[in-house]
Amino acid sequence: MQQPRAKSTAGGALAVRDLQARYGQVRALHGAALEVQPGELVAIIGPNGAGKTSLLNAIMGLLPATGSVLLDGEELSGVPTEQRVWRGMTLVPERRQLFGSLSVRDNLLLGAFHRRREGAGVAADMEFVFAHFPVLRERQRQIARTLSGGEQQMLAIGRGLMSAPRLLMMDEPLLGLAPLVVREILEVVRALSARGLSILLVEQNAKAALAVADRAYVMERGTVVLHGSASRLAGDPKVQAAYLGGHLEEDRG
Ligand code: ATP
Repeated sequence: MQQPRAKSTAGGALAVRDLQARYGQVRALHGAALEVQPGELVAIIGPNGAGKTSLLNAIMGLLPATGSVLLDGEELSGVPTEQRVWRGMTLVPERRQLFGSLSVRDNLLLGAFHRRREGAGVAADMEFVFAHFPVLRERQRQIARTLSGGEQQMLAIGRGLMSAPRLLMMDEPLLGLAPLVVREILEVVRALSARGLSILLVEQNAKAALAVADRAYVMERGTVVLHGSASRLAGDPKVQAAYLGGHLEEDRG
């Protein structure tokens, strides 16, 4: 078994080619392809059922798929999920999937489970998480399920960061959150991106996703139908009509 790698946020380039996956008769992915350059923040938007969650799960190895997934040029097809985490990718899953009866601190430590012998590295990463989400430091002894929805989402992202990823993938991190919390989480996402972390963000809130991303992909029926810079897609009349309520309210910054 490969040993956990040393912490590094350098790299994080993802190349996905021709992914195909199905649930029985339902074809979830049909030739999906995308790229994330090192340090890039890339969004995936699209309607319900387009295959966005399936794509992230296939990249993580949670959903069996054919095609190619390369992380920093290394082919991951056939590599089990836990080894993909060791190699530098992490998924913050839809609906958070926290360990509800455990404390904030224990949830974070479980994110670093494969690095538990690193000691100082894990402690430094917990400081890194607390620096980005100070409320988690305050509530570190609190039971996870008693946190607010926004705090739970912060914990889910924090747990993902505890695996010291080069590529952080997030599935609908803004779902159901109040505007103020959405803003807070997007600020952290932006800050992580500014530090060089590669980020792939699936989001129903297309407006928020396009406001924060460098580039974006639009998925429909299991494949990518449109891609480009986030600002170009935000200005595209088809994208505006389908995903931005017909117009884009200006709040980029
Ligand atoms: P949403 O935004 O609603 O989560 P999505 O873009 O993430 O949608 P997926 O959840 O990946 O899309 O679903 C892609 C297709 O696969 C849809 O047709 C969906 O109904 C189907 N699907 C997803 N999960 C399953 C499952 N466990 N069993 C059967 N079909 C599924």
